[in-house]
Amino acid sequence: MKTIQIETIISSVKELCIRANYDLPEDVYVKLKEGIVKEESPVGQDILRDICYNADIAKEEQVPICQDTGTTVVFVKLGQEVHIEGGLLSEAINEGVRQGYKEGYLRKSIVENPLYRVNTKDNTPAVIHYEIVAGDKLEILIAPKGGGSENMSRVYMLTPSQGIEGVKRAVLEAVRLAGPNACLPVVVGIGLGGNFEKSTYLAKKALTRDIGSVNPDERMARLEGELLEAINKLGIGPQGLGGSVTALAVHIEDYPCHIASMPLAINMGCHVNRHKSITL
Ligand code: SF4
Repeated sequence: MKTIQIETIISSVKELCIRANYDLPEDVYVKLKEGIVKEESPVGQDILRDICYNADIAKEEQVPICQDTGTTVVFVKLGQEVHIEGGLLSEAINEGVRQGYKEGYLRKSIVENPLYRVNTKDNTPAVIHYEIVAGDKLEILIAPKGGGSENMSRVYMLTPSQGIEGVKRAVLEAVRLAGPNACLPVVVGIGLGGNFEKSTYLAKKALTRDIGSVNPDERMARLEGELLEAINKLGIGPQGLGGSVTALAVHIEDYPCHIASMPLAINMGCHVNRHKSITL
């Protein structure tokens, strides 16, 4: 049994919130750079150059990559042999978010009620997903998620007979309807299977995978490649101003599902597809 003090969790989360918002992940940055070469439209090339330049400035001057510093989405993998001492894990995570958003001068974007909309002024509560795993480690991944791209995300409750073509049609429709509002180029996170809520969780989790990684099932990996190619043929391009780099990657996370269902969730990850993690 390993004991982790609550203070360690608070300071780690605080630091992750700041780092995630200042430093674009290397895999996203490299893909954007590659995009400048691949992009056929001169306007699209300029936009990709500007996006990279913006990320350079954020890193150098230690300021947020984007003014929208997001909903703080947290993925926790808690080893069964970890004992948390000094308080509740959820409260520690929220305290870390509170401190990180304050000390990092990150925009506070959360309102306490969807209809009455009073800002909580510290970006809490975070949206926290827990997974209990074997071992004595605690992994915390922070993924701040911008509102613009989140609003362009969709769920389709497909039926099994719609098959692979139905999945492709729905994904392309979602990207087309998102248009420039998803702050292109995007990483498309897809949750396929499970049920209504599981599919959306998987779609979000898919955004945290490294670009260049593929689904371990080669049939799903093939579908990821086919979808990326089809999306980039839509001609939407960087910021929706036309071009061939509409998406940087398509990530599918799949799960077994009911014989009558084929849930499909599509979560758009904008060009600041942020995430940072720590293992304690
Ligand atoms: S969707 Fe992403 S890039 Fe666009 S404003 Fe929000 S965080 Fe920024």
